[in-house]
Amino acid sequence: MDVVQATSISRSYGETLAVDGLDLNVPEGQIVAILGPNGAGKTTTIEMLLGLRRPDSGKVRLFARQPDSPYARARVGSMLQDHVGPENLTVRETVALVRRYYPWALPVDGILDRADLVGKQRSKIGELSGGQRQRLSFALAIAGDPDLLFLDEPTAALDVVARTAFWQQVRAFATLGKTILFSSHNLGETDDVADRIVVIDHGRLVADDTPAGIKGLVADRTVHLTTDASREELAAMDGVKALDAVDGTQGESGSWVVQTRRPEHLLETLFSRGRTVTGLQVVETDLEAAFLHLTRASGERAA
Ligand code: ATP
Repeated sequence: MDVVQATSISRSYGETLAVDGLDLNVPEGQIVAILGPNGAGKTTTIEMLLGLRRPDSGKVRLFARQPDSPYARARVGSMLQDHVGPENLTVRETVALVRRYYPWALPVDGILDRADLVGKQRSKIGELSGGQRQRLSFALAIAGDPDLLFLDEPTAALDVVARTAFWQQVRAFATLGKTILFSSHNLGETDDVADRIVVIDHGRLVADDTPAGIKGLVADRTVHLTTDASREELAAMDGVKALDAVDGTQGESGSWVVQTRRPEHLLETLFSRGRTVTGLQVVETDLEAAFLHLTRASGERAA
């Protein structure tokens, strides 16, 4: 069964079309990353999926119900902002308080354990570090033992160590068969967490695939080089899937980032034609490059 079903949802704020006819179905047990640059429409999408905002048009169902129905509400946990409760309550008191709102809540100790907060349970919220607050926010999101968990840029304020620990907690929760949807603009971390990546830009879905598939959409290799070959010449080479000029290029030579299946062919051809090649670097395409390319392409189409 699809836990999330969004059909052609749109939402504007005045003149700004934030989400533009988006379709998204998420089956049970999947970990889905919603990626996109700032202002892409990720938060608005998540708010509509959660029933916190009504779409201007289109339809959302969670567990085949209205997202704001008591049934859907009880099965969904969300971590939307870092406001976690009154500053003078302890971590344990806050967790105990919030879990009372849910019909199928987890035990307090289980929640504290899953969020790695056992050692901090007697601390007041006002005394927590940013990373600890984030963990508390996660604890409150899972308090009702949700089947679907929404995380809106959950690691934005965390350092690398805290991030890794956080994703371990999320993955452990996912192994219980839970569905997880999170937004991010940090690609590095989504690569090994998500089963599926949905890329949104200008309120539209520009890609929807596995992390490997997203990388494959661009190419196998990224070649950085400065050459006197023209854009047309580079673009016509066999295996080239994408070509981006690096800003600030002047004179006869241009600096390029080329995505290609056949880096050797590209270089052999340039050398055989007597083209200059400097600043050469060939690297495996990472998710960041794939994503930048996808969102840039959608920006060009929108323009
Ligand atoms: P970010 O990564 O920066 O959080 P996002 O992908 O979550 O961005 P949204 O917050 O959904 O994007 O915003 C999408 C667009 O809608 C942006 O152009 C934003 O300026 C606009 N927008 C969002 N919320 C409002 C609002 N309450 N009033 C007016 N415009 C809004």
